[in-house]
Amino acid sequence: MNLVLANNISKTYCAGDVEVQAIKSVDFAIKPASFVSFVGPSGSGKSTLLNMIGCLDHPSSGTLEVVGTDIRNLDRKAAARFRGENIGFIFQDFNLIPVLTVEENIEYPLLMVQDWTAAKRQQRIEELLEEVDISAQAKKYPHQLSGGQKQRVAVARALATHAKLILADEPTANLDHDTAYRIIDLMKKMRDDYQSTFIFSTHDPKIMDAAEIIYTLEDGKLNKQSGSENHE
Ligand code: ADP
Ligand code: MG
Repeated sequence: MNLVLANNISKTYCAGDVEVQAIKSVDFAIKPASFVSFVGPSGSGKSTLLNMIGCLDHPSSGTLEVVGTDIRNLDRKAAARFRGENIGFIFQDFNLIPVLTVEENIEYPLLMVQDWTAAKRQQRIEELLEEVDISAQAKKYPHQLSGGQKQRVAVARALATHAKLILADEPTANLDHDTAYRIIDLMKKMRDDYQSTFIFSTHDPKIMDAAEIIYTLEDGKLNKQSGSENHE
């Protein structure tokens, strides 16, 4: 079974009279519990591809199945629910909510889940704080944290609801290399512990070494695939 299956997908943006073909006839298949990176220079289509996998945008043509769902069939409301149930996001600039503390930021996605009691949420928050090693900062606000600490909170938040799929668009772009490697290691550990699939984009060649499967994007085309895992 594939967690993500893209069949001949293309994405064309219309900016006034000009058409930009951001993604050009791309195929790929991603298995559960894998650790995958899309690598390419700025403008190569990484965010476009991640946004489509994350159901934030639709392909112009081709089919895209995510967690067994053909995402073309989802309207805006259904897509939002689908994201809430299946997908966690980690962004380049962390996107923490500035007026909430660390623990409140982690709690935020849990509030969207209908049947969790306050006690169950609290237990989950404490578990996550410990896993990403940020318990001492639980009551602090984002502006009181370092870049690496903020990104650890973002990882915890993305994992809070046990999402099967975590999408991270250049999650290390604003971090120094040591911190970036630590975040990658943390994401790998979370993949091992939860069997979540991580798909991230980067244009940092040092970071892409950490991926098991690498897809190289150039000008909207998927050129190459490599990595340590056998993957058809
Ligand atoms: P990357 O994330 O690799 O930097 P993007 O996916 O953001 O690349 O962009 C790929 C191409 O699509 C670029 O040429 C970009 O200018 C274009 N593009 C992205 N989003 C839009 C949009 N909303 N409207 C028009 N063009 C866009
Ligand atoms: Mg981008």
